[in-house]
Amino acid sequence: MTSVRLNTNEAWLYPELCDVIRLFLGDIVIGEEAGDMCFAHAHSVTGDTWTETVQSGNRRSVRTAIVCSDALEAKRRIKRAAKNALFELLMDSLGFCPPWGSLTGIRPTRLIYEALSEGKTPDEAMRRLTDEFYVSEEKVSLLGEIVQMQEGLIYPPENSFDLYIHIPFCVSRCAYCSFASVEVGKSKLTDAYVQALIQELRDGADLMRRLGLTIRSGYVGGGTPTAITTGQLQSVLESAMTLFPGAAEWTVEAGRPDTIDREKLSMLRQMQVGRISVNPQSFSDETLRLIGRAHSAEDTVRAYLLAREMGFHDINMDLIAALPGETADDFRHTLDRTIELSPESVTVHSLAIKRSSRLHEQLTVAGGAHNQANAEGADEMIRMARTRLCGAGYRPYYLYRQKYMAGNLENVGYAKPGYACLYNIGNMEETQKVLAVGAGAITKWIFDRKRRIERAPNLRNIEEYIARVDELCQKKRRVILDEGRALTQNREDT
Ligand code: SF4
Repeated sequence: MTSVRLNTNEAWLYPELCDVIRLFLGDIVIGEEAGDMCFAHAHSVTGDTWTETVQSGNRRSVRTAIVCSDALEAKRRIKRAAKNALFELLMDSLGFCPPWGSLTGIRPTRLIYEALSEGKTPDEAMRRLTDEFYVSEEKVSLLGEIVQMQEGLIYPPENSFDLYIHIPFCVSRCAYCSFASVEVGKSKLTDAYVQALIQELRDGADLMRRLGLTIRSGYVGGGTPTAITTGQLQSVLESAMTLFPGAAEWTVEAGRPDTIDREKLSMLRQMQVGRISVNPQSFSDETLRLIGRAHSAEDTVRAYLLAREMGFHDINMDLIAALPGETADDFRHTLDRTIELSPESVTVHSLAIKRSSRLHEQLTVAGGAHNQANAEGADEMIRMARTRLCGAGYRPYYLYRQKYMAGNLENVGYAKPGYACLYNIGNMEETQKVLAVGAGAITKWIFDRKRRIERAPNLRNIEEYIARVDELCQKKRRVILDEGRALTQNREDT
């Protein structure tokens, strides 16, 4: 099957319904004119009931919802009913159920917290995920463990915020990379960028002081922050730590082992950065070459041992399941080597081939060969990660899903007890205000006791960001001060 025809009498639901189809059929072409498989959705109302009907050939699926007057709640009910009607029809026609059921575009843990806040017991909250959204028992139990690990960490103090600093430079481009990052050797802009960042940090600090808010955690991400020079990174950190004193946690992603050396690590120690990441992604040299990482497995081990030797006691390692050419045995080897090294936390990603990545280009545009693990293979690797990491004393503490992920799976952060990263929990669960600086960074501000989240995205283009940093600071102020709700409003619901 190469294409699907989808029609609906509610245009706003079209992208949501496409997401449900892609849960079953992957990144398939969907249009309104013709297709190998056809679906027609109709929304109607009778008395106090909304009816969502989906038809495909002689199959039909119907879901209803109770009419309500709150516009936000109305949208949510209609969307859930329509998506579930389509999901049930697809499940019936194709004979399988994706692991995360009909959930798209929502953090699964949010549904648990939503049910708990309505007074449901943890068991009832979890049962709702299986009964209403067809989430598998295995995924529900994973969510249960995550909610347990987040206890006491999920809701930060009201008068706090987290700070995110984006460094959009890297040393070379990985094939799967979809981040807004530029090769540092090709850019003459790093000094000007650092100056713009510091200006944005000053402006943010001034605003936070006026609002009486204090920093809880700081996070420097990218790109690869350690791709810029030691002096440049030190200037950023010095400014940030002086302007925002007292953070309980500072993380710097030192992701690429080929950017880590004694000088950089010593500066990070001197700046009292407690948490860093050293990311193997895979411990197979052949895979690293295929995905363009430009470093070897041994480079990762060397960088990690150097960080240990220099006194880092909180190190994260990122791994990716279902990388091109990798089998379950390759992934097992990566897991075993990681566990041997014993970092405090391990983040396991399922490969997501995003449209802006070179890998997507190789696969779809150029039609190149790519033997990525199929859905079952990816599923086996993700299961293996959970079993082996939990067996070694790690516990899952946050989870997120993205589009285009191998096997429709998830990314999971595992940590040893006491090493869950506060920034990751607050940011992924959207329970913490995030003041973000840098090109492409997105400030997220929470209002009305978490019912409303406003976003202020910065420009992604580095030159434009540098040229227009004043304007971006003003835009951010307007969002944080809630003046006009001018920017993108996110009211996440399913
Ligand atoms: S290390 Fe990260 S930011 Fe750099 S190219 Fe690879 S995926 Fe992109």
